[in-house]
Amino acid sequence: MAFDVQKIRTDFPILHRTVNGYPLVYLDNAATSQKPQVVIDSIVDYYSKHNANIHRGVHSLSQEATDAYEAARKKIQEHFNIKHSHEVIFTSGATHSINLVANGFSSILKQGDEVIVSALEHHSNIVPWQMLCERTGAILKVIPMSEEGVLLLSEYESLLSKKTKLVFVNHISNALGTINPIETIIKKAHTVGAAVLIDGAQSCSHIKPDLQQLDADFYVTSAHKMCGPTGVGILYGKEQWLNKLPPYQGGGEMIKEVTFEKTTYAALPHKFEAGTPNIAGGIAFGAAIDYLNSIGFEAIGVYEKELLDYATQELLKIEGLKIYGTGVEKTSVISFNIEGIHPYDIGTIVDKLGIAVRTGHHCAQPIMDFYEIPGTVRASFAFYNTKEEVDSLVAAVKKARLMLT
Ligand SMILES: *Cc1c(COP(=O)(O)O)cnc(C)c1O
Repeated sequence: MAFDVQKIRTDFPILHRTVNGYPLVYLDNAATSQKPQVVIDSIVDYYSKHNANIHRGVHSLSQEATDAYEAARKKIQEHFNIKHSHEVIFTSGATHSINLVANGFSSILKQGDEVIVSALEHHSNIVPWQMLCERTGAILKVIPMSEEGVLLLSEYESLLSKKTKLVFVNHISNALGTINPIETIIKKAHTVGAAVLIDGAQSCSHIKPDLQQLDADFYVTSAHKMCGPTGVGILYGKEQWLNKLPPYQGGGEMIKEVTFEKTTYAALPHKFEAGTPNIAGGIAFGAAIDYLNSIGFEAIGVYEKELLDYATQELLKIEGLKIYGTGVEKTSVISFNIEGIHPYDIGTIVDKLGIAVRTGHHCAQPIMDFYEIPGTVRASFAFYNTKEEVDSLVAAVKKARLMLT
């Protein structure tokens, strides 16, 4: 079946609007993806027909809402090839998921234990661990990267020891697009008995990870980067780890029995799901996963690679343009600067032409420090972008360059 991008674009109502009088060219997919009509419909349908609180009522609406929410959990379990559905914890997103794990490790880590992060991380996968280190006296070590934006695995190996308790690395860098060799990172960590958390917020719109095969101890992602709504995501954790971690928040839903003397906690997954969750969001996350699978991750991967190669080739024709993140294994993210021009100025001019790109540090200041730059312009492509949109970007950047030099 041929990949029909024009047909796919009809699924996304927002792609037909204009911005500043020009057709919208949305190239900020690494920040959040756009939503297809089926996802929007699923939210409207839930609030129009089934809205009730879940897991509590015996009444029919509550049952319907509970069934739909739990069906979404099941769908996520199948999509990621997770062994048990109770290993899927609904959260408000990747950031929430990481904080949940970091908080749990407060009661496990001791002074002098070591944890390892990579140089390529989003602030979400740095700051919660620094807070954990402050609380416990554990030491944070960093896997360095090369000029190409690729992690140095030999350096990683030399950081690992019996003291290493935890390694946390992203699957794909949101700032540069580098795909990290997480299979190797996980295997090596396990040889010293360390647990591994993979931040999949940037990867799950591009690839479909098999979590049992990967053997990560934790994997987190957000729905909104994979065509789903904001405010919902998951924490996957191996059952034995989730059982070991204490609850994160107390409240309704997460308890078995409450008295003023003692409270006992609910079984997984509810132990980590205090309070009324984003029910519509969870259900719509399921709809987004169905939608992505209806297109197919193989087709998405092939098409996005074409876009990446074409955009890289065309952008590099612009005088003074430098791309950051030039590893062989990379996804459809291009971070660049033009000599002598501030990224913010380029972003502002191309926006006037209807083109949405990101400018700044992309929540990854250590990467910008490494390159000694204030930030980059980042164009990130999804399967609903086109070569014509790449052409529009290139023309707009050329125009910006002429105006600014
Ligand atoms: C977007 C992103 C996050 C944060 O996700 P939220 O949805 O904002 O919680 C973390 N890590 C990476 C790599 C990301 O791309």
